[in-house]
Amino acid sequence: MKKIMVVLATRNKGKMREFQELLKDHPIELFGLDKFGPIPEVEEDGETFDENAYKKALFTAKLVGLPAIADDSGLIVEALNGAPGVKSARYAGSNATDNDNIKKLLSEMEGESNRKAAFECVISIAVPKGPALTYEARCEGEITTEIRGDGGFGYDPVFFYPPLGKTFAEISIEEKNRVSHRGKALAELASELDKITIWLNSRLMEAKPPKPDHKEFEHNDWSE
Ligand code: IMP
Repeated sequence: MKKIMVVLATRNKGKMREFQELLKDHPIELFGLDKFGPIPEVEEDGETFDENAYKKALFTAKLVGLPAIADDSGLIVEALNGAPGVKSARYAGSNATDNDNIKKLLSEMEGESNRKAAFECVISIAVPKGPALTYEARCEGEITTEIRGDGGFGYDPVFFYPPLGKTFAEISIEEKNRVSHRGKALAELASELDKITIWLNSRLMEAKPPKPDHKEFEHNDWSE
């Protein structure tokens, strides 16, 4: 069966490997952004993970003329009215390190008894014309009062996951993938891959220009 070419809107090699593994038995051929030379970064200025994931997926799909997948995720803390939220990566400033962000979070949470928090992840698959499919998942936990564990990344050392009695920095990657927001969103996407393939095929057929009778129509230009 002919494979559908799809771009993953990331330069993160870890994310690329995760998605490639997931798609390996499906008629979808995944490309990283680095295959397309220098591509401008899209500004993640949406107010929700959903908006940002869709914006990244659509921007990339339009730019390269192929369907694109993008994800956005972050930490939501109840006592901070949902902060750091879409600003998770830059909570302590635009060049903040994971450590800076954790320090700021622990200081904002000092003396706070409501420690409830959740990681959220949205994955968006968009075609150049605009329509998109969305997969979302959430993982609930609590913010610790100090750093625990040295695995993972981002806020993992301060995100306590009650069912395992550990922070995300104290568990293995395999354990984390089974329960995390990203792992669950990916699992949902994986369970629908057959439907997604049909959806992509039908959207791409719709988007094709009429049968060419002029030379200028002989290339696929699916942009609006
Ligand atoms: P991204 O959208 O996947 O790049 O994630 C944005 C930010 O959210 C990251 O820079 C982290 O600060 C935070 N984040 C997202 N997922 C996780 C996770 O699984 N563990 C810890 N922090 C995360």
